[in-house]
Amino acid sequence: MPGYNGNRSYNNNNGSQGGRPRWTETTAFTNPYNFITLGNKCMKKPYEEYTKSPLKTGWIECTLTTKTPLFIPNTTNEDAFRINTKDHKSYDFFSYDDIKGQDRNKEFSEPVIPASSIRGAMRAMYEAVTDSCMSTADDEKILYKRTPIPKLPGMLKKDDKGWYIHPAERVMLKFQPFPPLPNEVSVNINNYHEGQEVYIQKSTTRHMGNPNMPYVVSAIADKKDIKNNITVLGYVHIGEYMHSKKYESVFVLEDNLNDKNRIRVTEEDVENLRKTLKLYEDRTINITARHKGYPQYEVKEGALVYYDKDRIYMTPSCISKEVFNNQLKQILNKNSGYNPCSSKEVCSACALFGMIANDGKENTAISSRLRFTDAQAEPRTNKNEYYEKITTLSELASPKVSSTEFYMEKPFVHADLWNYDYAINWKGYSAEIVKEYKPRIRGRKVYWHSKTTITSTEPTKRNSTVRPVRAGINFTFKIYFDRITEEELKKLVWTLNLGANENANCHKIGKGKPIGFGSVKIKVDTVVERKVEIKNNTLTRSENKITVDLKDAVNLNSNNIKEILKITDFSKAPNNVRYPMGDSGKGGENGVGPHQWFIANKSFSNTPMKPTIYKTLPKILDSNNTLKDYKM
Ligand SMILES: [Zn+2]
Repeated sequence: MPGYNGNRSYNNNNGSQGGRPRWTETTAFTNPYNFITLGNKCMKKPYEEYTKSPLKTGWIECTLTTKTPLFIPNTTNEDAFRINTKDHKSYDFFSYDDIKGQDRNKEFSEPVIPASSIRGAMRAMYEAVTDSCMSTADDEKILYKRTPIPKLPGMLKKDDKGWYIHPAERVMLKFQPFPPLPNEVSVNINNYHEGQEVYIQKSTTRHMGNPNMPYVVSAIADKKDIKNNITVLGYVHIGEYMHSKKYESVFVLEDNLNDKNRIRVTEEDVENLRKTLKLYEDRTINITARHKGYPQYEVKEGALVYYDKDRIYMTPSCISKEVFNNQLKQILNKNSGYNPCSSKEVCSACALFGMIANDGKENTAISSRLRFTDAQAEPRTNKNEYYEKITTLSELASPKVSSTEFYMEKPFVHADLWNYDYAINWKGYSAEIVKEYKPRIRGRKVYWHSKTTITSTEPTKRNSTVRPVRAGINFTFKIYFDRITEEELKKLVWTLNLGANENANCHKIGKGKPIGFGSVKIKVDTVVERKVEIKNNTLTRSENKITVDLKDAVNLNSNNIKEILKITDFSKAPNNVRYPMGDSGKGGENGVGPHQWFIANKSFSNTPMKPTIYKTLPKILDSNNTLKDYKM
């Protein structure tokens, strides 16, 4: 029996089962982000080799000009504009002023861009320019994904040999207010709790008469009721909240389970199940406000789980987010050493910007040879001239790393579906693992520029209201460098102005990058070298302007540089930058949105029961960088 949920709407009545896809492609869009490809191998060498003389010390003076609205919050006040919407936050732009408790509607401060914002963006770009490690890849982040492989129901148990799963059969339990079909009972689910022991009568035919579907509960009681034929022992399982869901479950354990049929699981598998639950509790991942997760669920003996026979992944839900064995760091390591540096052998970005690491044996720390200052705004008599009007940002909910058709390379071998851990091909309705599959990530995430910003009219608890700095404001800042080589200086200047002061290549900093905020042009105005020399037994200091020749700073023929120059070109910013949109035709808050695009993309060329990836994210250097929305 395929163990999928009876609550997926496509199982009910839309007639698509086994039929042809009914999605159509509509409006073109450019996904807000894309990826700079990684090279063949991340070059790492001993730190000492980066610091061979002659070395230079001095500073770089830069001008930063906003090309679109820019926003960096002053987080000392989360109700800066007194918006009267519950749980809605509003922020003024970053400044040195303490604005705690103030109504900022008519107050204006001098805007400041904190050094950390510039430094972070410059480091990420320097990593891309020099093909360095991906230092911000966070291995603590648990990768997750909704698995398409249907799972089997069971109960987690323990005996003297350790943990095992007792296989079960799922029987669908209709809940109110949904009326029972003939053959069904509809219960008040609030009267039941997770794992509760009940007795049921199973329906004589499967749900909707469909041979792939489970049976349904025809009658239910707290005690065995032989007179009314309510005699099958089962356990209530209350799954996650889902829009349009009508059924919960009763798990009926397999009879006469001998030792051989117990499905053995390890402590680690049980630990992974705990991590999965933690994901459900993490509200940043559950963006649906009504999603309640599993308040009653506990990982212990007797816990009801879904599992996958071939690869033991247990989850509390049938089609569910999972914790994967392959953490991002491991994938990066397999991707030719792009995992964050962790020893004295470092990449060029870690050598220049510094790093702190612990490889399990010892701590390694390399101090930064660069110091960034805050960026100060050019003086204005009226401080309100710095700012755009107060704006409510469009919700920043975005496709997550679980969107593997965007984040992962398409496998070399054919696969219908792939993710961080495995790839599959469909054989009938069963999934076959592609053995040669090696997960590869697309590269370093970067954002397209856009000449328009996406704002919202309605303040809600899921968006925020801000006062951005407007386009056309100049800021100045300095970077002090300490004992760096000529080559490092060239690459640093190239990274700052992206090849030339005069070109239109811009960086993205601050908040709202996917919705058109934060494009800035950085120009390198002056580079000063400071020398301390001993002449005739006297210490002399000199400060001299130097010119930095960018001619061979980088290899203009390499893919990463070509991609950087294309995606950072503000003059060629696409005019349709936004997240994908899918319209299932079902209406409601769940029927339209980016997540529906990903559902459509996996069922476009196959049935929803056999999800198959249809389109992947175009590459930066492709002539057409757009994809199309889907509509049912
Ligand atoms: Zn590194």
